Amino acid sequence: MRIANLRGRLVLITDTGAVDVESASEGQFSADPQAIYDRWDEFVAWSAVAPAGAGEPFHTADLAAPAPKPAQVFAIGLNYRDHAAEAGFALPDAPTVFTKFVSSFTGPEGRIELAGPTVDWEVELVAVIGKTARDVPAERGWDHVAGLTVGQDLSERTVQAAGPAPQFSLGKSFPGFGPTGPWLVTVDEFDNPDDLALGCSVNGESVQKGRTRDLVFSVPVLVARLSAVLPLLPGDVIFTGTPAGVGAARNPKRFLAAGDELVTTIEGIGTMRHQFLPA
Ligand code: ZN
Repeated sequence: MRIANLRGRLVLITDTGAVDVESASEGQFSADPQAIYDRWDEFVAWSAVAPAGAGEPFHTADLAAPAPKPAQVFAIGLNYRDHAAEAGFALPDAPTVFTKFVSSFTGPEGRIELAGPTVDWEVELVAVIGKTARDVPAERGWDHVAGLTVGQDLSERTVQAAGPAPQFSLGKSFPGFGPTGPWLVTVDEFDNPDDLALGCSVNGESVQKGRTRDLVFSVPVLVARLSAVLPLLPGDVIFTGTPAGVGAARNPKRFLAAGDELVTTIEGIGTMRHQFLPA
């Protein structure tokens, strides 16, 4: 199943378009895209017998974040071997965790204002929690995930590195710096949810290419490691980290400029497109 946030309303995505969930369920489920994660199992059961009505055509530019107002947002640093190496860090023994404040969230298409001269790209697989997780073993980690979507962990590197201790959460939370979409794909749709190709390009030139099998801490392991500390709540969002190829690790360094187009894709999910405006 694919679900999306179409102009603030929860929809099912079918081969022909979008089906409004509140209408199709005759009010059983609300139109609020974030609220569905609190009733995830019930919703999945309903979707299996949902009226098959043809979806209405829609514009992808009208899509917004599939989980737009999570209670908690987790982002993981240094979670691919090749990216930790290019960043000059040893592989971590435990996940490196920060947040992206939810005001940075935006949809899968549109314009994003550059917050400064050193804004960088980071393609990331994003997992959304579908069932409260507390002390969950990794073997059952996927059972707590509603689905996967595409994300960018846009980062203003100067702000991120400022101060005696790094400011990851702040440098990665300017407005528009947390795009996700175009939709959420449930875990059962993937042949192997632990091995998806992901990448992004700037103005048509490929800059990042990786596979999620190279994650240091996989999605189910992240559920285990995070839920050992605190409960993961329905609708929580996890940005799982980026592979090699970020602009800050290039020689010379390369950052996003006004007019650039960033295209971000994950196998089996879809593509996001963003254009950058001057600060
Ligand atoms: Zn990141």
